[in-house]
Amino acid sequence: MPHPEIEVILAKPRGFCAGVERAIEIVERALKKYGAPVYVRHEIVHNKYVVEDLQSKGAIFVDEVSDIPNGAITVFSAHGVSEKVEDEAKGRNLPVIDATCPLVKKVHREAQRHEEGGAQIVLIGHAGHPEVEGTSGRVKNEVILVQSVEDVEQMEVADPTKLSYVTQTTLSVDDTRSIILALKKKFPLIEGPDLRDICYATQNRQDAVRKLSQEVDLILVIGSANSSNSNRLRDLGEEMGKPSYLINGAQDIKPEWLSNIKKLGITAGASAPEILLENVIARLHELAKIAIRTMEGVNENVRFKIPAELEEAA
Ligand code: SF4
Repeated sequence: MPHPEIEVILAKPRGFCAGVERAIEIVERALKKYGAPVYVRHEIVHNKYVVEDLQSKGAIFVDEVSDIPNGAITVFSAHGVSEKVEDEAKGRNLPVIDATCPLVKKVHREAQRHEEGGAQIVLIGHAGHPEVEGTSGRVKNEVILVQSVEDVEQMEVADPTKLSYVTQTTLSVDDTRSIILALKKKFPLIEGPDLRDICYATQNRQDAVRKLSQEVDLILVIGSANSSNSNRLRDLGEEMGKPSYLINGAQDIKPEWLSNIKKLGITAGASAPEILLENVIARLHELAKIAIRTMEGVNENVRFKIPAELEEAA
């Protein structure tokens, strides 16, 4: 059977964000400066390839601070940690390097500021996500976790005049907008950042997929199953009416997806490295006759500073 002819359109922007680049660089520089092993609490970013690559260089990923031996170099992942986790590491005098994304830290501070002002904190986010655990654990009182408009409808609060919300950084912009509207309708005095807690990288990648989906017949999102922002890109493609698949890499492409399509859109979540895209393109060359172009899109120039102790370890 002759190979199908497909135009491949690459999303712009796609792939690594500044927070992920910084977090990976922190682990790599820590390995260089202090030598292996370096212990990382939780996957440094939610990508299997990245984690395995760092493991091969000497990083050890653990779930809890209690899994880290005394004195070992300890890195907190890009998703951030609760105060309790930070205190546990401090209590054990572990040498910690914090790879929490500065944009997640900003949300922590925002929640703390609102609480200090007397508000109860509502957190819009996904239960069980490490960022949600970290942000919840940055305020003294229990947060009210809201995942949907239905959750808002069922919410009961002690004082509706003293309420503030913050959000996870990697949510669907559209879903979050609906949740915020529902919150404001039910609690007109609630305060919050509107959609500004959703980070620039999440917003830009979603905008790009929205635009891409108007041009293509199918969307592939490169990213791991536990990556929140990658899942939202896949969901958005589906919502825009285009079949959309989340793939770890080239090995997950099913040849039958390519039959009867003329235009294929590809994007990658904020934690997916460009090499995975290169492998996907190589696989597509085997399966079809492809012509590749990149869509018009936003140039991102965001960079975050590396911790001072690692500046020399480039
Ligand atoms: S997705 Fe956004 S919040 Fe998360 S690491 Fe990247 S820039 Fe930071």
